[in-house]
Amino acid sequence: MVHWSPFVVSFKKRYPWVQLAGHAGNFQAGEYGRLLKRYCECEQQCLEKLREDVLQPYVPGYYGVVKKDEQEYNVMDDLLADFESPSIMDCKMGSRTYLEEELSKARERPRLRKDMFEKMVAVDPEAPTEQERAQQGVLKPRYMQWRETLSSTATLGFRIEGIKKADGTCNTNFKKTKQKEQVMKAFEDFVKGNTHILKVYLNQLKELRLVLEKSPFFRTHEVFDLFFGTKFLLKEIIDNRLTVLLVSLFQVVGSSLLFVHDASVKARVWMIDFGKTVPLPEHQTLDHRTPWVEGNREDGYLWGLDNLIDIFSTMLSP
Ligand code: ATP
Ligand code: MG
Ligand code: MG
Repeated sequence: MVHWSPFVVSFKKRYPWVQLAGHAGNFQAGEYGRLLKRYCECEQQCLEKLREDVLQPYVPGYYGVVKKDEQEYNVMDDLLADFESPSIMDCKMGSRTYLEEELSKARERPRLRKDMFEKMVAVDPEAPTEQERAQQGVLKPRYMQWRETLSSTATLGFRIEGIKKADGTCNTNFKKTKQKEQVMKAFEDFVKGNTHILKVYLNQLKELRLVLEKSPFFRTHEVFDLFFGTKFLLKEIIDNRLTVLLVSLFQVVGSSLLFVHDASVKARVWMIDFGKTVPLPEHQTLDHRTPWVEGNREDGYLWGLDNLIDIFSTMLSP
């Protein structure tokens, strides 16, 4: 289960490291401004592939796996290391934050869940249908899908997971932050109205979008099709290389953009959390913008980024 409270961990450094979201205990201090995150094979594969990708400047550097007290960890850059009392925001990207496999797994043995019904009612007493109310239970897939409609995940293609400001105040209560105006207010508060920082973030988001559209890791539909068409013509010659290209297209689910700035007005955005970023089956393509319907595996990542860019732009020239 995900914990929503932030964890301030003392790494015996000049600043306390902050974990805004995710599972408590997943992280440990590393050496030389590095961080250990509990091992996950998906994440390892992604971080390794990303080392060679044009996206490399936008992801934490990766340094392999270490074992500590019987537990394996992926070693990566601590993105806060170069900041002085940083303000941090985690935005979970995409119009869906679970994998289709998780949905089908939840359907395998359908069981009415009283716990999920209760969670649903606690958030919105009107949410359960009459039938669900009569049964005092909901099916897990229904719960998973409902949960995405609470925040801006389903409507804007991203949601705020948490914000920690330089003054130490922390807010992870954005579960029901859904409307554009609410999101804008949270961003405004995050940058404390500093338009310079907003501009730097906006430029970085735009740059990131351009790079994402070029990235083999994240390849867009059109470019992919070109390769696909060429495959048959050139199969004899460069079959191996194309196979590599074909399997290197990923769906990016549950990944975040980490925004970090400090009083020196240095500001940067990175992509983090690749625990649910998985290679697509061969022949399947994504444009990361088409709305998700079950089976198309679209993740809505670029759609979410488009919306983020629109919101930052509007904030700068309302
Ligand atoms: P979940 O899957 O529930 O989102 P997780 O356990 O996979 O969480 P992450 O999302 O990767 O964990 O990270 C949780 C938090 O830890 C982030 O919101 C951020 O505050 C911090 N964090 C993660 N990676 C880094 C990094 N490389 N440098 C600095 N901070 C990081
Ligand atoms: Mg995360
Ligand atoms: Mg994760």
